[in-house]
Amino acid sequence: MTKAIVVGAGLAGCEAALQLAKRGIEVDLYEMRPLKTTGAHTTQNPAEFVCSNSLGSFDTTNASGLLKAEMKAMGSFLINIAFDVSLPAGNALAIDRSLFSQKVEELLKKSEKINFIRKEITQIPQNLPVVIASGPLTSDTLAEDIKTFTGSQHLHFFDAIAPIVEKESINFEKAFYASRYDKGEASYINCPMNKEEYERFYEILINAPKIELKEFEKDAKFFESCLPIEVLASRGTDTLRYGPMKPVGLVDKRTGTENYAVVQLRQDDKSATMYNLVGFQTNLKWGSQKELVHSIPGLENANILRYGVMHRNTFINSPNLLNPTLQCRKREDLFFAGQITGTEGYTESIASGMLAGINMAKYLLKEPLLELPQITMLGALTHYISDSSQKHFQPVNSNWGIVEELNVDKKIKKNKKLKNEMLSKRSIEYFENFQV
Ligand SMILES: Cc1cc2nc3c(=O)[nH]c(=O)nc-3n(C[C@H](O)[C@H](O)[C@H](O)COP(=O)(O)OP(=O)(O)OC[C@H]3O[C@@H](n4cnc5c(N)ncnc54)[C@H](O)[C@@H]3O)c2cc1C
Repeated sequence: MTKAIVVGAGLAGCEAALQLAKRGIEVDLYEMRPLKTTGAHTTQNPAEFVCSNSLGSFDTTNASGLLKAEMKAMGSFLINIAFDVSLPAGNALAIDRSLFSQKVEELLKKSEKINFIRKEITQIPQNLPVVIASGPLTSDTLAEDIKTFTGSQHLHFFDAIAPIVEKESINFEKAFYASRYDKGEASYINCPMNKEEYERFYEILINAPKIELKEFEKDAKFFESCLPIEVLASRGTDTLRYGPMKPVGLVDKRTGTENYAVVQLRQDDKSATMYNLVGFQTNLKWGSQKELVHSIPGLENANILRYGVMHRNTFINSPNLLNPTLQCRKREDLFFAGQITGTEGYTESIASGMLAGINMAKYLLKEPLLELPQITMLGALTHYISDSSQKHFQPVNSNWGIVEELNVDKKIKKNKKLKNEMLSKRSIEYFENFQV
């Protein structure tokens, strides 16, 4: 069988279809727009950028920049088009979005292997191999079927992410390890606050500008246990001190006392390089999040690896469902691609579409699937989302915290610039003479 279905002509789906066609596979590419809309897309164009027109940095010593270099080395169609239609924006790859979509559509049309069909897919197709790339705004009917297929606990409808910081940048002269009431391992990092520090923090929080929710998100009810920190704060000065910032049972062994309030940080990755701020899911603008995080004692110079977000985002629980090849564990002719897998962001969505397309083709051509190592940014991303030891899976974008550590001494690791250069060089060397 050398035919496959791709669901969704967004960033991931178009890339996946083009990769399949390049390898001689016939593709039925389904797109529901304009017959049915997502609420965020405004055109009927394939590969529409729904919000900003920037794909982030192209500097290869930046995590997102390295990912782009890897995608070029692997022959991504969409990343090359993005560079072709780029606009001046410093180190960022900003694009002319309508020209981008137009060029993608031209390529789709030019391919004799791709049939572009405007139709909503309401169930995961059973009769042919499938790449599901229906995005964070997957239509309700298809989402319902994916939920049935994966099990209801394996589909999420909202991102409610707290900021994540790099452990190395935490000031342990102020922060300390402890678990509440000394129960179990002291695995939480705690940032203590006195009354004055708490009041200053509260002022910043309560006055910070928030991101407006989109129309289709306004009806959404956040779970009480998952409320944005700014909503909790608006209920009263002390609400946080009786909620996520409660200090009881957290004794700093250096002083033997409990504090007025405490921000707890929980380990977020296996190698313990990333820590998330417990209960800090937020919709604040990024500048405000930075100010707020840096006002916390111990996090004055924290390197924020990802910012908090709260918005509609349909994604599967990839750690229980996918291999790092993006193949579904319980149905081998089914692959997932794009934001629905938890690889978050424009560049990451295209990247996972590329890998899913390559691997679906390999599957159909009976070749071994491509599993990238974790020294590469794309390998780190796909291993991160498919790591079954994760308990609280949330989507992730490219960042240095997920990449395999360098085997060098601590002094080099502390030099962030040098470390990133070395991490980047290691991956670029891997892709020299790379063929897929
Ligand atoms: C409101 C919003 C703003 C965002 N802003 C940014 C940003 O500024 N920067 C950034 O890096 N990332 C952003 N993202 C995250 C993400 O990068 C984008 O959503 C990206 O477009 C995801 O790519 P994708 O291919 O997975 O999904 P999409 O590009 O959304 O493609 C999915 C396609 O599938 C179609 N589809 C859905 N259901 C069906 C069905 N049942 N049958 C057929 N077709 C279907 C959709 O119409 C769509 O065309 C944003 C996400 C959202 C929701």
